Amino acid sequence: MMREVARRFNHVYGREPGFEDKAKAAAKKLGSRKAKVVMELRTKYQEQGDAEALAAARALLDKQGNLSVADRERLFGFLEGGGRMILLEPEALLTEASKLPGVDGQKMSKSYDNTISLREDAESLKKKIRTMPTDPARVKRSDPGDPDKCPVWQFHLVYSDEKTRQWANQGCRTAGIGCLECKQPVIDAVLAEQGPMRERAQKYLDDPTLVRNIVADGCEKARKLARETMREVRGAMGLAYT
Ligand code: SF4
Repeated sequence: MMREVARRFNHVYGREPGFEDKAKAAAKKLGSRKAKVVMELRTKYQEQGDAEALAAARALLDKQGNLSVADRERLFGFLEGGGRMILLEPEALLTEASKLPGVDGQKMSKSYDNTISLREDAESLKKKIRTMPTDPARVKRSDPGDPDKCPVWQFHLVYSDEKTRQWANQGCRTAGIGCLECKQPVIDAVLAEQGPMRERAQKYLDDPTLVRNIVADGCEKARKLARETMREVRGAMGLAYT
């Protein structure tokens, strides 16, 4: 939804008088060498649809500390061939397994009571994973299965290294391993991941003021960014009265 809002807003309000000139002036602030690289990447993207060139140019702009928010957004819009990009479209950052199913194989959700919490008690965690559903075709230990139909496999994609994945994949398809065996490396990996988390959390459990301070700092940072964005938004909409 946020992507749609940003796209629509940019489309309606992104054009500004003298946009091209302002974008070129912003590019000059990068210094001649970097400006040249950005222009070349822009041409590659606009003429050949090279998405990697666009990503490289964006990354380069992101690293420029000397650009104002307005110039940066102008250049983002310039790169894509549109107007000034006032609101950035949020992008998904996905791991290989884009989501983890819950321990019942459905979407993981607290209301479904199928979650593994970040500081789950070790015994409860073991029990939850041991009782996870698996490929329904594996009725008996001797039935071969298909990891793609098994929620445990999604956990392997996140938690296991290549060797363990191969072992699980092959063992499942050939009925060489049982499901409990297959789940063990996942249990071990989740426990290993959570150990340090539990230790780190203890400090904050002992002193919740630390958490409140972190939240207050975060709010202040968010407020500052939101203020800058809203100034841009009002300016673009002609609602800036200063
Ligand atoms: S062997 Fe592993 S991947 Fe295959 S069905 Fe059992 S738990 Fe799932």
